[in-house]
Amino acid sequence: MTVITDDGDQPWTTPGVYRVAPGVFRIPMPLPDESRLRAVNVYAVRSGADLVLVDSGWAMRGARDRLAAGLAALGAELGDVGRFLVTHQHRDHYTLAVEVRRAFGTRISVGIGEQPGLALAATPGRQQLQAQADALRRHGAGALADEVLAGLRDVDTSQLWEPPDDWLRPPQEVAVGDRLLRAVPTPGHTRGHVVFVEPGAGLLFAGDHVLPHITPSIGFEPVAFEHPLRDYLASLRLVRGLPDARLLPAHGPVQERAHPRVDALLAHHERRLDATQALVERGAHTAYEVARGLRWTRRELPLRELDTFNRMLAVLETAAHLDVLEGLGRVGTVLAEGPEVHYTPGGGPGPAPGPPGSGGPGASGPATPEAPGAAAAGPSADAGPPAVPGPSAAAGPSAGRTAER
Ligand SMILES: [Zn+2]
Repeated sequence: MTVITDDGDQPWTTPGVYRVAPGVFRIPMPLPDESRLRAVNVYAVRSGADLVLVDSGWAMRGARDRLAAGLAALGAELGDVGRFLVTHQHRDHYTLAVEVRRAFGTRISVGIGEQPGLALAATPGRQQLQAQADALRRHGAGALADEVLAGLRDVDTSQLWEPPDDWLRPPQEVAVGDRLLRAVPTPGHTRGHVVFVEPGAGLLFAGDHVLPHITPSIGFEPVAFEHPLRDYLASLRLVRGLPDARLLPAHGPVQERAHPRVDALLAHHERRLDATQALVERGAHTAYEVARGLRWTRRELPLRELDTFNRMLAVLETAAHLDVLEGLGRVGTVLAEGPEVHYTPGGGPGPAPGPPGSGGPGASGPATPEAPGAAAAGPSADAGPPAVPGPSAAAGPSAGRTAER
């Protein structure tokens, strides 16, 4: 393997080592065949004798050798890597770091917000996708929840996960030799997602926060957290408020500027919010009903034409949009019988009262206890792969342009 300039002449997934900036190299790493993301970029950052990797790849057969071959082209070995800076807990970003650490003691750093998700992912025998299944039931998709759980392979992936050596507490500066990277908190894709900005070089190591061709899934990790899409949109605006930079995404080719893609993602979610609100106004009650009224992936497919995994992501993403609309007062919620959340137009008190005595989730408050939290969160990253297609939890079917996953 030799180092070549990343000029976009070949598909971004082609194995190799690509120079993207002085001292910064992109190494595309393999993903399981069933992943529509096709590859994940690891970025090697050098300064003097220091060598740090941003994200690690998916611990699968051949991945470690691929990484070693890439580093060899840079005159380095796996044992020379001083630290993994991991953008988030998902399997395609985190688990190869764990494997390499077992052999070389390499330091792993990840955002503090990933603590609950990583802890649960490392718990032996846990029920995969439990948080997602619970959320599906709350959002009117009980049959889909059953289908999701029935389709899981009985594989315990807990051994792939271990806590990091240290938790990043962004905003936080991280030195790599003479270079200075800044970890910026960008919750949304996961609770503790961070991007790394190198202001001096005009680089944005974006992880899955800003991807060039797909809309990242929202809040998909083992432990539910509240308001994932609200957080995600705020994180997009945060990055939009930084000086524009070269976009170094985890999936997809490097782009000269990040801001146009951030604008496109914000616009996409605006359209999605409008469409979601319109469906509630036309009488859809649950996130499941709304999701059935929307179109999915770049190919504008109806929900029923997605596979089980992507139908799950679609319903959870719809719930996340409804959660944002509720926070804005554009829809309201009521609890129907049982645990189901029903949405109503407007945000004023709905036709049915909230649960007795709760003062609760009822009508208009920005946050009902119910809907949000659970809404989208789920396992993991790790749940993904064997059992279901898109491992990487990474990129949801999300909206419009997501086709990729
Ligand atoms: Zn990813």
